[in-house]
Amino acid sequence: MSETELEQLRRDMQQMRDEAKQMRDEAARMKAEIAEERERLATQLAALDDRGGQWNDYLEIRGLHVQFDGFVAVKNLDLTVMHGDLRFLIGPNGAGKTTIIDAITGLVPATGSATFRGEQLLGKKPNDIVKLGVGRTFQTASVVEELSVLQNLQIAEGFRKKGRELFAKPTGASQNVEYMMEVCNLKDDANKLAGTLPHGKKQWLEIGMLLVQDAHLLLLDEPVAGMTPAEREATGELLKRCSRNRTVIIVEHDMDFMRQFADSVTVLNQGEILAEGSVEDIQNNEEVVRIYLGGEQQ
Ligand code: ADP
Ligand code: MG
Repeated sequence: MSETELEQLRRDMQQMRDEAKQMRDEAARMKAEIAEERERLATQLAALDDRGGQWNDYLEIRGLHVQFDGFVAVKNLDLTVMHGDLRFLIGPNGAGKTTIIDAITGLVPATGSATFRGEQLLGKKPNDIVKLGVGRTFQTASVVEELSVLQNLQIAEGFRKKGRELFAKPTGASQNVEYMMEVCNLKDDANKLAGTLPHGKKQWLEIGMLLVQDAHLLLLDEPVAGMTPAEREATGELLKRCSRNRTVIIVEHDMDFMRQFADSVTVLNQGEILAEGSVEDIQNNEEVVRIYLGGEQQ
């Protein structure tokens, strides 16, 4: 081989090396881009939660009637709650507030109609109602105390794991679960047993479970009962945030909490609607003041 040929060979090899390096650099760039894209998608996924509602994304109750052994607990009730509304349902004990939620979620038989996103809820089984995007909490938190926060959320999300796996070391949380833990102030409690959480956080976990289930109609029965003022405040903020892209109904006795967070209020008395409107409307309604708020306002 001549000197010139050798020189050419060296140059070719150098060029190949350069090209290989370029390819490596290009691959590294692509990797970085993919990582960036992943991150962008994750943010988008989280933002998905802020998507607007569909045109029929609201609750419409017509002629809802619930009877217990001849006693009428809810009387031909009409109630519409729009997407984005944080509606408070108030009224004296026994007014029928919990019964309305029970009826909508399939726990007590009722006649009339209750539709969410155009789907009839009455007559369906509780599980099928959950699948239609309707979620509720109970007056006492119903989380699984022996499982961690993360495991509770994973169950709610529908992870179909075998019993043994469920109790094994928790695996990574899905994007959805991660995001909802953040939303519900539970990020630092992921691996704590639900039973060890303070009362307020148990309620947040319950709300988080509804969120990972993709509930878009949230029915909350006295969510802040027994909470500290700071927990109430945080819960109000959380629900306010949730309600922007959902339909939220809160049964509540705490009037200060209602004043602070309600978009609209329905006052119930003996199974019927006594008044409906803004917090101001309700506070200025003579009948409401007489029957319900009177004692409180002196
Ligand atoms: P609220 O939640 O507004 O305090 P409820 O909806 O729990 O009121 O109750 C409304 C009325 O229905 C009350 O008089 C209550 O005693 C009655 N009631 C509720 N559930 C049942 C039931 N399962 N069987 C019989 N009566 C019931
Ligand atoms: Mg009740």
